[in-house]
Amino acid sequence: MRTTNLYAPTLRETPAEAEVRSHQLMLRAGMIRKAAGGLYSYLPLAWRTIKKIEAIIREEMDAAGGQEISMPILQPAEIWQESGRWPVYGAEMVRVTDRHGRQFCLGPTHEEMVTTLVRDEVRSYKQLPLMLYQIQNKYRDEIRPRFGLMRGREFIMKDLYSFDKDEEGMNESYKKMYDAYTNIYNRMGLNFRPVEADNGAIGGGHSHEFTVLAEAGESSIAYCDTCDYAASDEKAELKVIKAAEEEILPLEKKNTPDCSTIEMVAEYLGLPMEKCIKAVAFQTDTDEVVLCFVRGDHEVNDVKVINLVEGALELRMAEDDAIRAVGGCPGFMSPIDIKEGTKIIVDHTVMEMYNACAGANEKDFHYINVNPKRDFKDVVVADIRMVQEGDCCPHCNGHMKMTRGIEAGQVFTLGTKYSEALHATFLDENGREKPMMMGCYGIGVGRTMAAAIEQNNDENGIIWPKAIAPFEVVVVPVNGKNAQQMELAEKVYKELKDAGVDALLDDRKDRAGVKFKDADLIGYPIRITVGPKTVEEDVLELKVRRTGETVTVSVGEAAGKTVEMLTDL
Ligand code: ATP
Ligand code: MG
Repeated sequence: MRTTNLYAPTLRETPAEAEVRSHQLMLRAGMIRKAAGGLYSYLPLAWRTIKKIEAIIREEMDAAGGQEISMPILQPAEIWQESGRWPVYGAEMVRVTDRHGRQFCLGPTHEEMVTTLVRDEVRSYKQLPLMLYQIQNKYRDEIRPRFGLMRGREFIMKDLYSFDKDEEGMNESYKKMYDAYTNIYNRMGLNFRPVEADNGAIGGGHSHEFTVLAEAGESSIAYCDTCDYAASDEKAELKVIKAAEEEILPLEKKNTPDCSTIEMVAEYLGLPMEKCIKAVAFQTDTDEVVLCFVRGDHEVNDVKVINLVEGALELRMAEDDAIRAVGGCPGFMSPIDIKEGTKIIVDHTVMEMYNACAGANEKDFHYINVNPKRDFKDVVVADIRMVQEGDCCPHCNGHMKMTRGIEAGQVFTLGTKYSEALHATFLDENGREKPMMMGCYGIGVGRTMAAAIEQNNDENGIIWPKAIAPFEVVVVPVNGKNAQQMELAEKVYKELKDAGVDALLDDRKDRAGVKFKDADLIGYPIRITVGPKTVEEDVLELKVRRTGETVTVSVGEAAGKTVEMLTDL
């Protein structure tokens, strides 16, 4: 490809609308253009990268046993009504009505479609396992489309669905996909972590988010500085912290005027926060009150709490009257003397405290010498706190660190959620009818491209990992009007192509500075400069975009040296 034949309108200025680097750079490098909020056209450079990402995904999906198919984007409402998701999917679903008044949606995902596809054909355990995937546009009317391709309303997703005869099979499929995803992100040259995720609404089973580490990411993740453990901050498990044993003292009530926050109490009584018990009161969507207690210097993790409250879909802060109705006093709460039958959840670390301070359920009073094992009755003990930097790893002796990342892919086991609702059953070895065990596995192709840029850029532009660069190499003749330079540049370009290198020849007649700036902005991994010295002394320069390292070689050596350098990149 020659630049004079490439539609890549680069911009000198950073467009004001773009907040994050990937969005700014994709606009400036002439890769994408906005059509409307969350809707983008992909120009040739972006599309080349998209195709390379898709090729890697396809190879790994096929190698893991996946078969590529293509299902309709336009999906009939009936199958969503059958699964029960039509009414609950909400405003994010793009709904359309045809000329006959029938309702459809533009697929935000394809569980219903794929399950109804297999249910009529797969009848026997002999036809399982089955893995079907597609790479196509998905539609979600996101409340806040933003950050360019990172959160669009139309976006490209690879989605694979696995069908197995039993749980063991499902877990095997999950493992295959987990490994395939690991290969995909490794091959793309990205720094990522498979992060244990909360699979919330889907319930039960396993889920990992493949998270590309980058500051602009919306996910906060905790990872161990020693072992492989990583989890979303909501999910990160925490060990019990045992306080040093003390002699158990008698409970004592203290007047603590106006000390309605944990900080005020700690200061008033001269206690460290680790000696205080913090209370947080929630109310569920069915108005049940849930009282939660963590150590004073810890925070409650409401995702962990919601998972412990059967039937609850949402939690909100409890109203004062609701707290009073169960015997609590807002600002001065503890599990002591709460009305019987009230849901009280105490963090497991709190149970190991000695002679602590907690509310007395009476305005302006606290207890000291609270010993949870002695004083708390009818409480649920569980890990309900939020991870913090420096916490002990639940799996080794290491410590947790916090970082931000971009969820580029996610893998889930679904169990029989969809196969039961949509009657996708088969006959097992004994002729018994069973629902299929399913899994679903998505990769955001555009978001992965954006994440790659977030992780790989500098003040001059993008620094593509070679596997997904729109071109691996750009050949730049310093003076496009000089026939001898052009001839040598053409020669190098041809030899690169013959050696299997994905090269671009910048044959524009523009100034060298303009071409160099574009090369840095677009971020080709290697730039080869053909100049006067090439003509006169048979030397040309190879420059590595990431490191700025340069190597000079003869024209005849250029292709061979480029291949060698690309291998090492
Ligand atoms: P998020 O929590 O970021 O909204 P999600 O968990 O709803 O994403 P999934 O249903 O797991 O997304 O979709 C699989 C993948 O599709 C995600 O990991 C992500 O890479 C991509 N994706 C999801 N929503 C969008 C979007 N609005 N724009 C671009 N990519 C998206
Ligand atoms: Mg997800």
